[in-house]
Amino acid sequence: MKYTVGDIIVTKKNHICGSNEWIVLRTGIEIKIQCKGCQREVMMLKAELDRKTVKINDQTS
Ligand SMILES: [Zn+2]
Repeated sequence: MKYTVGDIIVTKKNHICGSNEWIVLRTGIEIKIQCKGCQREVMMLKAELDRKTVKINDQTS
């Protein structure tokens, strides 16, 4: 998966707040994402996030 800051990603599992949409805040080996439901920020290894992500909604397309 290719992540770009500002992308909205959708994960297989819902967050504890019930949302499954996240905003990409920072990219690299570790990706920082923010839950759209509760605004909680999470740092995750890219490989780990790849396994959880269903799709990326590229904001430029
Ligand atoms: Zn949440």
